[in-house]
Amino acid sequence: MPKRHPRPETLALHPRTGSAPQRGPVATPIYQSATFRFLNSDMDQDRPVSEVLGDRFYTRYGNPTNSAAESFLAELEGGEAALVFSSGMAAITSAILSAVRAGDHVLAQRELYGGAFDFLIRWLPRFGVAVSFVPVADPAEFAAAIRPTTRLLYLESPSNPTLQVAALAELTAMARRRGILTFVDNTAASPINQRPLELGADLVVHSASKYLAGHSDVVAGAAIGSRALIDALRDERTVLGGCLDPHAAWLLLRGIKTLGVRMDRHNQNALELARFLEGHPRVRRVHYPFLESHPQYALARAQMRGGGGLLSLELRGKGGEARRFVESLKLFAQAPSLGGVESLVTIPASTSHAQLSQVERQEAGISDNLVRLSVGLEHIDDLTADIEHALRAAVEEVVS
Ligand SMILES: *Cc1c(COP(=O)(O)O)cnc(C)c1O
Repeated sequence: MPKRHPRPETLALHPRTGSAPQRGPVATPIYQSATFRFLNSDMDQDRPVSEVLGDRFYTRYGNPTNSAAESFLAELEGGEAALVFSSGMAAITSAILSAVRAGDHVLAQRELYGGAFDFLIRWLPRFGVAVSFVPVADPAEFAAAIRPTTRLLYLESPSNPTLQVAALAELTAMARRRGILTFVDNTAASPINQRPLELGADLVVHSASKYLAGHSDVVAGAAIGSRALIDALRDERTVLGGCLDPHAAWLLLRGIKTLGVRMDRHNQNALELARFLEGHPRVRRVHYPFLESHPQYALARAQMRGGGGLLSLELRGKGGEARRFVESLKLFAQAPSLGGVESLVTIPASTSHAQLSQVERQEAGISDNLVRLSVGLEHIDDLTADIEHALRAAVEEVVS
């Protein structure tokens, strides 16, 4: 009989450690210790003692609770190994720095999380690394933008906040043929909805603060990939210092266990709300990958299992409607971040993408009237009623 591979929902609960059953706690203990005792004999090896001891040396190098979270994440994304970080940005910046040297070029999609865009456009050039951007909707433009010095292709799909979809299999294959690494930010999809490593990516990065942890109570990051890439990246984490606190790693582990059921409900609620909004006379446009009207609907259906919990909408009107809408919502709390159990709303132009210039925002399709919803796990009827009420309060009657 062929060996069955467990589904991601199961792997979120049982990483395949390969070891025989042992007595012990079902939940992973929190090793809330900065440092670990070692013996004289540990120093008599031909390797540094930090390598001999691995995740039981000093918590900036590793920690057993963090290692447990890392093995769950590796399984979930279908990678050989993983690392957890103190934040998504620590994972992203450390991963990019591990891949490039002065003189290299990074090619990235134009529609990116504000922090990642900021790092690429304003920080990398300080270290002699060139960066250029291409709109993700046009895969052919990427090949044309490759330079002899291109070392890394950096993607995010679906993108935050306009939910554009990157042609992952096509773009990773294009990069691989030229010996270029591809990193994909899989935060918005989560490994339940999309597994970029299976589509050819070399490394997946996450803001684990979002769906992976899922309860808006921890800031964390992760990177998953081949053992070789992860081993190289471990040095970056140790030197740059973006290590996760073990208690936060434990909260992340606890969150991951319910990822499968949470994503099912996020997917359902967001799709239903996207359809409702799309038919609403006070809404100009809805961005959601699993709406038939999405320009990359077929691509999204081919590479994603669900559309995710994130959607954005443009309100009708002359301006100011977004602020009134957000203020009138009762269930959706106005707060940055996404991917938690409770619904949140933001105006990206003044939160996640505030550090971009007006022109940069325009190029990324982020108008001042764009509202981003992170659809939570509440009952859909209550969410719909809240949105309907706020639309009435914010947008004047449309006579058409
Ligand atoms: C939030 C977010 C990040 C940054 O993660 P932090 O955990 O806040 O550092 C990166 N990418 C995406 C897509 C995000 O939504």
